[in-house]
Amino acid sequence: MRDLVSSGHLVRSHFWKWIMTTKNEIDTLKTLAKRYARANRIAQHEALNALATELGFPSWTKLVAKAKQGWLPSADQLAQAKAFIRGSYSGDDGQESFIEKSFARPVDEPVRQGKIGEHAYQVYEHFGDIHMEGEGWRILIGEALFSQPVVEIEKPHATTSPVRKPDFLAAALVIADEEAAKVRAGISSDWPRRATKPDAEGAVLHPLRGDRSSEWYCLHCDGKITGTQLAENLWHCPGCGASPIDIFSEPGWLDGSGMKPKPVVLAQSQKRAEPCIKVVDSRPTLTLNEESISLLLRNALFEDAKTPAERLGAQLAEIYVDDELDVCITLDEELWPESKEPEAAIAVAKLLGVELELEVSGMSFPFAWPDLGHVTTSTPEYVQLLLEAHEEQGVILREIKED
Ligand SMILES: [Zn+2]
Repeated sequence: MRDLVSSGHLVRSHFWKWIMTTKNEIDTLKTLAKRYARANRIAQHEALNALATELGFPSWTKLVAKAKQGWLPSADQLAQAKAFIRGSYSGDDGQESFIEKSFARPVDEPVRQGKIGEHAYQVYEHFGDIHMEGEGWRILIGEALFSQPVVEIEKPHATTSPVRKPDFLAAALVIADEEAAKVRAGISSDWPRRATKPDAEGAVLHPLRGDRSSEWYCLHCDGKITGTQLAENLWHCPGCGASPIDIFSEPGWLDGSGMKPKPVVLAQSQKRAEPCIKVVDSRPTLTLNEESISLLLRNALFEDAKTPAERLGAQLAEIYVDDELDVCITLDEELWPESKEPEAAIAVAKLLGVELELEVSGMSFPFAWPDLGHVTTSTPEYVQLLLEAHEEQGVILREIKED
C-alpha cells in the first residue's frame, strides 16, 4: 500500500482549487444591476435582465445558466457592464446626481430623524422607497406617486404602538411624505428636463431611452398614455403602476394581435388609498416541522458517526417524521453497527420533544467491501483503500457525462 500522507499531498496540489472567482465576478454584475435598478426605479429582476441583454444574453437566467457551466465575464465585459450602468445615471453637468448621493449613503444612515412627542423615529431612503421607523413600528411608502402607505406593527407592540393613534400616524405620515416627495424630485432631477416637462405639443423624452413622443404605451396593461400623464406620474403607468422601463413610444408587442391599446383609466381619481395597517412578527421563528426536525436529527447522526461507514449511514439513514412530529430513523446495519447508540440524535429528539424510534435494516452498502468503511475514521484514507482494493481486484469506471 502506498504512503497515504504523500499521496494525500498529490491530491491537494493537483485537484484542489478554489472557485471563488466565479462568485465574485457574478456578484459584481449583481451589484451593478442593483445600482441600475435603483437609478432607473425599476425592479431588480428587470435590471438583471437589462444587464444580461447588454452582455448579449437573452435573460439573466440564461447568463446564470452559462455561469454554472463555467462562463465568466471577461475584463472587457465587466468594463462594458460598468459603462452601461454609469450611462444610466451620470449627469453631464459635473454635479453629483441625486442617485449618486443616494448610493454613497450607508444603508443604515437615516435621511432624517427626530421625535414625535416622546417617540423617536428615523427615516431611511432605500431604492427610492421611504422607510420610517420607530420602536416596533415602521411606515413604508413606495416610489410611485399614489402608492398606498403600509404601516407595520411588530406583534409584541400590537396594541400599545403609538401608530395605533390616528394623531400620531397622521404626524408620522406628514414626515414620511415630505421625504418621499424629496426622493421623487431628486430622481426626476437626474433625468433630462424634457422627461418631466412636456413641450408645446405635449411630447416628452423617455428618461432612460431618450426617444420623444406625445403618446406612449404600457407593456403591462396595453394602456395608451399621454406625455403629460407620464411626466406627472414620474414615468410610472398611471393605470397599472408599471415602471419606466415598460413604457414604450410604439406598442410593437400588439402588432398582428388584433388588439388595440386603450387610453388608461386613471386609478381611483388620483387619490391615495388609506394606509394599510398590518401586525407583523419579524422575530426569528424556529418552525419545527418535518424538514427542520430531520435536518437537526441528521446533523446529530453525523456527530454520532465516527467512521466513514457510519457517516455514510448518517447520510443514507431514512428519517421519517409523522404527522404528530414523532420520528422513526432507519439505519443500515452494514453502515451503522447495531450496538451503536446514536447518542446525539437521541439527545436532540429529547430536546425537541419528539418520540424517537430507531430501526436497523439491511439496505445496501453503496460500495464494495463494507468492512473497509469501519477500519479507519478518515474519509481520505477510506477512499484510498477503496481505490486500491478496486485497482487490485475490481474495476474503476469513470462515467463522464457529455452535453
Ligand atoms: Zn399600465
